[in-house]
Amino acid sequence: MMQVYADNAATTKLSETALKAMMPYLTDTYGNASSLYRIGQEAHHGVQAARAAVASALGADTNEIYFTSGGSEADNWAIKGVAELMAKKGKKHIITSAFEHHAVLHTVKKLEEQGFRITYLPVYENGIVKAEDVKNAICDDTALVTIMYANNEIGTIQPVSEIGAVCREKGVLFHTDAVQAVGHVAINVKAQNIDLMSMSAHKFHGPKGIGALYCKKGIRLPNLIEGGAQERGRRAGTEAVYAMAGMAAALTEATDALTQNTAKLTALRNRLIDGLLQIESSRLNGDRNSRLPGNVNISFEGVEGESLLLYLDMKGVSASSGSACTSGSLDPSHVLLAIGLPHEVAHGSLRLSLCESNTREEIDYIISCVPEIIERLRSMSPLWEKIQKERGNL
Ligand SMILES: *Cc1c(COP(=O)(O)O)cnc(C)c1O
Repeated sequence: MMQVYADNAATTKLSETALKAMMPYLTDTYGNASSLYRIGQEAHHGVQAARAAVASALGADTNEIYFTSGGSEADNWAIKGVAELMAKKGKKHIITSAFEHHAVLHTVKKLEEQGFRITYLPVYENGIVKAEDVKNAICDDTALVTIMYANNEIGTIQPVSEIGAVCREKGVLFHTDAVQAVGHVAINVKAQNIDLMSMSAHKFHGPKGIGALYCKKGIRLPNLIEGGAQERGRRAGTEAVYAMAGMAAALTEATDALTQNTAKLTALRNRLIDGLLQIESSRLNGDRNSRLPGNVNISFEGVEGESLLLYLDMKGVSASSGSACTSGSLDPSHVLLAIGLPHEVAHGSLRLSLCESNTREEIDYIISCVPEIIERLRSMSPLWEKIQKERGNL
């Protein structure tokens, strides 16, 4: 049976190049990057080279990149840090969107409990924030605008450059959670007026447990971890040089192959979308064009997403759904609700996130598996029976 990994928005396979770049620091070059002797200095060079490579891929200066443990940490640091900084100036208003990752949403919720006012901008049916709405929401006491670069469930790409321009014009700091975008779309933090940006290596074929925060020079972001002088004294702790080296290698590899990967993925993605939309009572979630090249998110009426995933798993296909039953909650995804899907439709959603090593044969295999699973699930579904009755089909 074919095995198809189509959950690259959850995590990706480590690239061979990244693994090779990591090995020296897991073996011979085990020195502490702060030590003065040779293997310490070799580790130190590893840290500097990794930082420079990450910066260069994003149009940042080397000393504007701070390594973190991943995307969640970078999001927490950026948002809580700017909030602390701005509260001193009496600014206690944050603008975000309704469909951010929980690393952002739960963080702003925490700040709300501490007296911040939060504006959640609508994302409309296409899953795209309007820069105009950002502009209209900015007040005298706005401390931060935090809008994700690309959504992790429906893959929609936000008008980041326009939002950046609005924020710059109004003198408000702009953070973007770019965890789904870095390594997948072309980014230039300077040209796009981004002040702070979160990223995570395991979303672009780097190792897990490493990410970074880009923080524009001049922003006096409070320290995250007190201790040694690592990360310019802002995040102390002996550097995981192997992880940094792996992240840098993966990002460089992704950036170098961006044009060809985008072309390949877009074709696979469109083939998969068109193939699945042949199924009765299905819909594509999120804008079709302003969309990550590897993201497919489709709802099937009268189907329960979790069951669909289990059947797909039996067919060797790893995917994800828009319902959160596995995490112990019966609520459907806040992202799908934010684009206006009714609860029962949101529950029947399927996310397939591709990467450049997926093949056309794999796409066609998925397209061949899904219809019979949907038919089977619908034949057992009281919800589908109800829908059919309402439509006069039964
Ligand atoms: C995966 C993800 C995160 C969390 O990143 P980790 O490195 O897993 O902590 C944050 N935001 C988005 C949009 C993501 O997709």
